[in-house]
Amino acid sequence: MSYTTEVLERVIAQNPAQPEFHQAVKEVLESLEPIISQNEEVYRKDALLERLTTPDRQILFRVAWIDDQGQTQVNNCYRVQFNNAIGPYKGGLRLHPSVNLGIIKFLGFEQVFKNALTGLPIGGGKGGSDFDPKGKSDREIMAFCQAFMTELMRYIGQDTDVPAGDIGTGAREIGYLFGQYKRLKGTYEGVLTGKGLTYGGSLARTEATGYGLLYLVLELLRDHQIDLAGKRIAVSGSGNVAIYAIEKAQQLGAKVVTCSDSSGWVYDEAGIDVDLLKEVKEVKRARLTEYVKQRSSATYHEGKGVWSVKVDIALPCATQNELDLADAKQLVANQVLAVAEGANMPTTLEATKYLQAQGVLFVPGKASNAGGVAVSALEMSQNSGRLSWSFEKVDQELQKIMTNIYQTIAQAAKEVGCQGNYVVGANVAGFKKVAEAMQAQGVY
Ligand code: GLU
Repeated sequence: MSYTTEVLERVIAQNPAQPEFHQAVKEVLESLEPIISQNEEVYRKDALLERLTTPDRQILFRVAWIDDQGQTQVNNCYRVQFNNAIGPYKGGLRLHPSVNLGIIKFLGFEQVFKNALTGLPIGGGKGGSDFDPKGKSDREIMAFCQAFMTELMRYIGQDTDVPAGDIGTGAREIGYLFGQYKRLKGTYEGVLTGKGLTYGGSLARTEATGYGLLYLVLELLRDHQIDLAGKRIAVSGSGNVAIYAIEKAQQLGAKVVTCSDSSGWVYDEAGIDVDLLKEVKEVKRARLTEYVKQRSSATYHEGKGVWSVKVDIALPCATQNELDLADAKQLVANQVLAVAEGANMPTTLEATKYLQAQGVLFVPGKASNAGGVAVSALEMSQNSGRLSWSFEKVDQELQKIMTNIYQTIAQAAKEVGCQGNYVVGANVAGFKKVAEAMQAQGVY
């Protein structure tokens, strides 16, 4: 049995009932096969793949807080510190009822490779809770965040582990979490990223994941002599990633005709009105039905359906496994040119393989959504230097980083004889950096 197959079987056996974690590990190990097999004995002797696929630390704790009715609520909370070979653990906190240990492990594992691809010194981690922010009052959100941080603060720090936002954790939550850390610890440090601009946040961090996705897509298309201007795009989601992906796509001359939330999706033939979308989602925190009420060119549809629209480019920016094989077939039938992931692992393995086999340009999230965490690392640099950079400076750095990520993954794919396979390219390039650092630092 090959070493990669052996390790995958070990991961599946040792982490039962964690299908998303198995999926993320399977995708990586399969694409590493060509380079592992060249040096199998060395990697096996060092147990490098066992170490790489087992988190350094998995912290589980319960949090209690009191809701507006005076009822005590209890939530399960997690921080998985996956790998710190190249820098402090870094990754977001997801607040969503679907959160469990397997979800956080898959996200932490992806983060290790993503963070390596940014070229910046950040290791990988992830955390979160099954707390559902939907429909909660500001006071309830604050009560939960303070309770969460009261426990989390023992495990994090600006040089050890630096959490940030993810689904359900935005500027409001980061503010409450930061305030509680500062109160308890008594130090004013860059322990979280995605902070508000008045207390150490970086300009362009809010926009970074969505903008970065488009900068990478621009470079991908340029490499294939395709223009972005004039293209029709389907975006899923309507959170932070989706909103700024739509904004940048439209600034670059493309037309985005869809977005979605957990209840349904919007088709807007005139192109999504980003200001209205921001008003509905960021200010009112309302459903997309509100968007359609104020926009005559748009129609609302219950359930799933974004991928049935005829578009040139698809950007899944909602959540894991939202684009399956049937969706991929529909996109191919509609002659889609490119799919680039804005969310973490939004495409199933079967859908990814189908898209690639049909000649669709496909970029995995660990490369194409790395702009958010990259600007988080720039926020850490600004905090350490007690400086704040201009929007233009951060945006230019982001463009350079995303262009560089594309070049890196394209080159890595070519070197292992898989030209154009950006899944292989991203995994191989991320692995090489992390593996070299782990080997240099001795067994631990
Ligand atoms: N949650 C984001 C991600 O998936 C950002 C993490 C960060 O900024 O640390 O990469």
